[in-house]
Parts: sequence; structure tokens; C-alpha cells
Amino acid sequence: MILLDGKKVAAKVIAQAKVEVDVLKSAGVEPKLVVVQVGEDPASVVYIGQKLKRCIEAGIISEHMKMDSSVTTEDIVARVHALNADSGVHGILVQLPLPAQVNTPLVMKAIDPKKDVDGFTAYNVGKMTLGVEFEKMTPCTAQGVIELLDEYQIPVEGKEVVMVGASNVVGKPLAIMMLNRGATITVCHIKTRDLASHTRRADILCVAVGKRNLITADMVKDGVVVVDIGINRGEDGKLYGDTDFEAISQKAYAITPVPGGVGQMTVACLMSNIVKAAKTLSV
Ligand code: NAD
Repeated sequence: MILLDGKKVAAKVIAQAKVEVDVLKSAGVEPKLVVVQVGEDPASVVYIGQKLKRCIEAGIISEHMKMDSSVTTEDIVARVHALNADSGVHGILVQLPLPAQVNTPLVMKAIDPKKDVDGFTAYNVGKMTLGVEFEKMTPCTAQGVIELLDEYQIPVEGKEVVMVGASNVVGKPLAIMMLNRGATITVCHIKTRDLASHTRRADILCVAVGKRNLITADMVKDGVVVVDIGINRGEDGKLYGDTDFEAISQKAYAITPVPGGVGQMTVACLMSNIVKAAKTLSV
């Protein structure tokens, strides 16, 4: 069984980003990310910390802007517009989830697509659906999965790929990127009937739901490649994915660990997107 080591591959992606950052710096461009955090969601605090740490490793300047949890949609949109207009800022990341009173799609819409390093704006998502040649600022988790599979030379073309989870953040973009690469895609979600009948067909099973042990060993076929994107905190304080890692490892050809798998790749691909944005904005 092959352990798809996200930590190792992420380090490579970050090192490559650093090389490109150094080239940009020698041309007078200082790539900069601004992370906008609204409120004090504990998971967001952890995720932002990881992103800022990787920025330091890649030589990217970062700024952490905090806004009070009582802010309105208009307040955040005004902040985003100011960042759009600031030529010293190349990447804008509004950490989700936003508080309930905020209209999240309106905030996302305000971000300049050229600075949309999360790849969540309608412009970047729309372009991605047109095909590989139109992919540029792709959502970081989906991009991370593709790069992890590429690194281990696991082909996607012609494969049965089953995506469990259909969010705009992970499931849908990953399904589209797999389709762009010639896979046959099934997308499962909360309304899917008989989930196991779908997952058992998968050559590559990607899971992004947020339910520990949703996928058990009897739900996968021998030789499957499992990409576990879920992050769940156990009562023991440790992190777990959505799949039964121990049991599925006995049947799988390859599997991602949690932690140390896709999560690492997500942050690494954010660094690549910041580099892409800085390049685009500096020409
Ligand atoms: P979400 O809540 O927006 O979406 C969850 C999806 O799972 C929905 O499409 C829903 O229909 C589906 N679902 C729920 N219950 C199901 C069931 N019983 N059977 C089949 N489908 C079901 O979540 P999200 O933002 O896509 O995140 C999903 C998970 O991935 C979470 O654990 C999150 O923490 C994790 N995540 C990890 C990374 C990473 O870098 N590793 C990045 C983003 C999200």
C-alpha cells in the first residue's frame, strides 16, 4: 500500500513557489497575501496560522486583518474593495465561514478574480469548468489532490472517480478537475441513496464530507485509491478523516493519511496561487 505523503509533496510545492517568489522579488515585486478573518472561529484561527506559516517559508509577505464578528456584509465588502485597489496586495483570502448575518456570496463576488487566491469567485470557477487549458486560479484543495496524484503517477484518465461530498469549496471543483482530466465522475452527497453501491465502483474514491468513519472497508473495492479530505476532531483531540484508515489500508493500492495528506497540499497550493496572482498582476 502506498501512503500518499502530502507533507512531503507539499514541501516540494512550497520550495518551487519560493523559487518563483525570489524571481519576482529580483524584478521588484514583493508577493503579498492579506487574510481577512471575521470573528474568532477556533478552526479558522488554526487554518490561518498554518497559511501564515507557509507564507513565511515561501518568502511571501502576509497580513492578518481581523474584523469584529458583528460586522455587516457592507463592512467586509468595503474592506475587500480597498484591498482590490491596493497594488501592493496580490492575494485576498476571506477566511470562511463568515458569521450568519453576512451574505457570503456577496463578499466572494467583491474579490477581484485576479487576487482570488482561493479560486472561489464565479469567474475563476466558471473558467475552470471550460477545461484544463482554462484552469488558472483553481480551488486549493482540489488542485492539491490533483498534484498529489500526479506526483505519485496515479493516472486519472479513464478511471471511475467517485466524489463523496459536493460542496462549492471541495467536492464540486474536484469533480470538475477530474472530469477535465478524462475521468468518469460520480458525485455523491447527502441525498444520495445507497452510497456504498457508488463507492464500491470507485477506482479513485475522494471523500470530503466531515463525518468520521463515513467510509468503511466494506464500501471500497480491492486496489482502490482513497483520497480522504475530511477533517474531524476526535474526542481524544486528534484529527481523523472521513474514512476508516486502518481497515481500508489493507485493501487500498494507495491512501492519504489524515493529518499529513490533503490538508498539507491545500496550503501549499495556496502559495502557488499567490505566486500566479503576483505574476499576473505584475505584467
Ligand atoms: P460541506 O459541509 O460544505 O459539504 C459537505 C458535503 O458532504 C455536502 O455536499 C453534503 O451533501 C455531503 N454529505 C453530508 N453527509 C453526507 C453523507 N452521509 N453521505 C454523503 N454525502 C454527505 O463541507 P466542505 O467544506 O466540503 O468540507 C468537507 C470536509 O472536508 C470537512 O471535514 C472539512 O473540514 C474538510 N476540508 C478539508 C480540507 C483540506 O484541506 N483537507 C479543505 C476543506 C475542507
